[in-house]
Amino acid sequence: MTQLVHLFGGDATTTERSKELLGGKGSNLAEMASIGLPVPPGFTVTTEVCTAFYANGRQYPAELAQQVAAGVAHIERTTGRTFGDAANPLLVSVRSGARASMPGMMDTVLNLGLNDETVVGLAAGSGDPRFAWDSYRRFIQMYSDVVLALDHHDFEEALEIAKEDRGYYLDTEMLAEDWQALVGEYKTIVEKQWGRPFPQDVQEQLWGAVGAVFESWESERAKVYRRLNAIPAEWGTAVNVQAMVFGNMGDTSATGVAFTRNPATGERAYYGEWLVNAQGEDVVAGIRTPQYLTKAAREEANAKPLSMEEAMPEAYAELAAVFDRLEQHYRDMQDIEFTVERGKLWMLQTRSGKRTAKAALKMAVEMAAEGLISEAEAVARVDPAALDQLLHPTLDPSAPRDVITKGLPASPGAASGAIVFDADTAEKRAAAGDDVILVRIETSPEDIHGMHAARGILTARGGMTSHAAVVARGMGRPCVSGAGSLSIDNAARVMRVAGRELREGDLITLDGTSGEVMAGKVPTVEPELVGDFGTLMVWADAARRMKVRTNAETPEDCRVARQFGAEGIGLCRTEHMFFDASRITAVRQMILAENEAGRRAALDKLLPEQRSDFAEIFAIMAGLPVTIRLLDPPLHEFLPHREEDFAEVAEAAGVDIATLKRRAGELHEFNPMLGHRGCRLGVTFPEIYEMQARAIFEAACDVAASSGEAPIPEVMIPLVATKRELDLMKAVVDAAAKAVFAEKGRTLDYLVGTMIELPRAALMAGEIAHSGEFFSFGTNDLTQTTIGISRDDAGRFLTTYVDKGIFAADPFVSLDVEGVGQLISLAAERGRVTRPDIKLGICGEHGGDPASIAFCEGVGLDYVSASPYRVPIARLAAAQAAL
Ligand code: ADP
Ligand code: MG
Ligand code: MG
Repeated sequence: MTQLVHLFGGDATTTERSKELLGGKGSNLAEMASIGLPVPPGFTVTTEVCTAFYANGRQYPAELAQQVAAGVAHIERTTGRTFGDAANPLLVSVRSGARASMPGMMDTVLNLGLNDETVVGLAAGSGDPRFAWDSYRRFIQMYSDVVLALDHHDFEEALEIAKEDRGYYLDTEMLAEDWQALVGEYKTIVEKQWGRPFPQDVQEQLWGAVGAVFESWESERAKVYRRLNAIPAEWGTAVNVQAMVFGNMGDTSATGVAFTRNPATGERAYYGEWLVNAQGEDVVAGIRTPQYLTKAAREEANAKPLSMEEAMPEAYAELAAVFDRLEQHYRDMQDIEFTVERGKLWMLQTRSGKRTAKAALKMAVEMAAEGLISEAEAVARVDPAALDQLLHPTLDPSAPRDVITKGLPASPGAASGAIVFDADTAEKRAAAGDDVILVRIETSPEDIHGMHAARGILTARGGMTSHAAVVARGMGRPCVSGAGSLSIDNAARVMRVAGRELREGDLITLDGTSGEVMAGKVPTVEPELVGDFGTLMVWADAARRMKVRTNAETPEDCRVARQFGAEGIGLCRTEHMFFDASRITAVRQMILAENEAGRRAALDKLLPEQRSDFAEIFAIMAGLPVTIRLLDPPLHEFLPHREEDFAEVAEAAGVDIATLKRRAGELHEFNPMLGHRGCRLGVTFPEIYEMQARAIFEAACDVAASSGEAPIPEVMIPLVATKRELDLMKAVVDAAAKAVFAEKGRTLDYLVGTMIELPRAALMAGEIAHSGEFFSFGTNDLTQTTIGISRDDAGRFLTTYVDKGIFAADPFVSLDVEGVGQLISLAAERGRVTRPDIKLGICGEHGGDPASIAFCEGVGLDYVSASPYRVPIARLAAAQAAL
């Protein structure tokens, strides 16, 4: 019989820990219990049940009922209470738990097992009727909201009215009989909305909650989250059922969340929030303001309410010992949920904590220094993609700031953009190319798409562990939360703060590192690889085999890339150099020329310009290889497309409008990306490539002469499909080199090679390698031509393709290893057979994508090439691939 239920706590002996099977929460609860930490007993229904549920038309496996009953019996045995028993009732929580923590899944239901009879037993057993009725009303409200999907507004309103009627301000003023009266009202609301009385049968309650967890796996919110995070639908979720412990049993009880180190900065200090006499989500819900865990944090914030360290020193000391134990055990920073019931500590969750990139770096470097992990593990710990957060400009410290308010520094980094007040607007405006800042009172899982679209997030309510803060850190968006002085008027679409009014569309700037919110746009400065970042990069460089180059064609990009550690240029495109206003006329004259002589005359004007482009780049990349791709795009891209531009262009180029139009008509192509471009231009107009090659070699000789450090030009012929094309073009390049070297009286090393970007070139790589001294995989075009999907048009259907599981990810972002990858491996192999020392690299966008970089390591490429800001990401990813 398949084991569908695994027990934990008490005398459970299961050794199953697989997160695939138990989900993250279930696996870690079992692990904590087994190392002797205080965990309330419970059981986990496996993810396989979820998968089977959907595969069998929403039906459970036959054995499930019996195994769940055995699980309940385990909890009853361990706690000495009985589920549904009127005298001594067992209450449980029902908690979802996917492999990775997943917003969008069902919220936890607490206090399940309460009904009109058991509430009396709970009151008697605890000696605290107020607590019992408070728990019951919480249960009805949660169950109605989460499982029955009733409108929670009516419940909140009933509570407000109950308090108002009695002249109370806080929930804590409510007495036992007040809660009891409210329970009656809640039951009436349920019956009115649902058409049936609130379920009194505890088995019905339990199966209702279990079913709701499985149903939530296919909720819209969960699906959106899965798509954004590339989580496959087949994974499914587990369900955890666990004995309740109570943080709401008076002033010796409490609940809280904590991190073993600061998740925003990485600093080694316990970090968290807690609330006395509270339960579950109270801490993150923003109803009461949570308090600081440690004395130091309270003092630093100048806050009054006592920290847990001060108010409950014994429970706190026990908790601190658990923190250390967990860090040693998991060898990583832990994110923890706990409850204190009448002085006794209970652990309810642990997991490796989400952290900002900055914190990840600091923790990895410090844990290696502490001896908790090795340097190699430190390198492996940091998610390369997350470094993106640190590789962007931060606010210029010397720029003036018009600070309008300050909130909590919930997720670091700086962001400027137009204010928007809801997620849909954020998505719409971002799609239209605007930078937006999402401003909300607080966020909820319904806002995820807007948070993703926004540059930054600002909330008026919520702490460092609020939804906005946690999600923003995970996404790498700067976030300022709990800016309490902010008043947001969603209807009027304005926010007011300190006597000022800002409207939707107004620019603001957030500093998620300091918590400051500024009116207008504050200028930024470039990041530097110093401190922990620098240290980790040194370790990464020691671990990696592949070189990391950059894709760059402007001196500015080249400089940034070198600062980030680029070891040469993997792709210098030359067409952008032709668009420059001062040159476009000569380019157009060249295109419009009727014969070779006319073309040469125009090219002569371009030569000195190209030479100076290359000289500047060579000087910055002194001593490093620079791969220059000769002209690639179809020529008509350089001609005007709009009627109103023709006259001006014709005049500048010295031809009449009719000639210009005729020539533009001749150049028109039905399918330009497969048309007259790449080396096909060089084959038909060799003088273009001849000019470019000459500019390259003249510049290289000049730089070598003036600086003494010769660059290593690698001349790349694009879009080759046959060896003969490459032979013809190589002859043009070699002739130019020979002529220039004779004129300059010096020779330089250089290579001539090709981009492999057509399937035929990959297949014929063995032959092409006879002429080509290097291959650079142009995976943008290779992906387009292999799959037959145009990158520029794929946006319309690619999301659907990813949603339906046809592609695991966008193949233009992450290499299609299965398909396109085969062509790359095959070409690399065949190329090496012909020319064992052939240089191999990748220069598509994929060169900066960690998953694709891992593939490149597997194929044994010599280098990857990434855009300047992605160079450090590629260095780290290349190191991880080599480990
Ligand atoms: P999430 O995945 O959203 O964090 P959890 O299942 O962890 O949801 O539950 C949320 C909160 O509910 C926990 O942090 C804890 O405070 C409370 N909780 C869950 N189970 C129990 C329990 N058995 N006893 C007491 N509190 C619980
Ligand atoms: Mg939790
Ligand atoms: Mg190409």
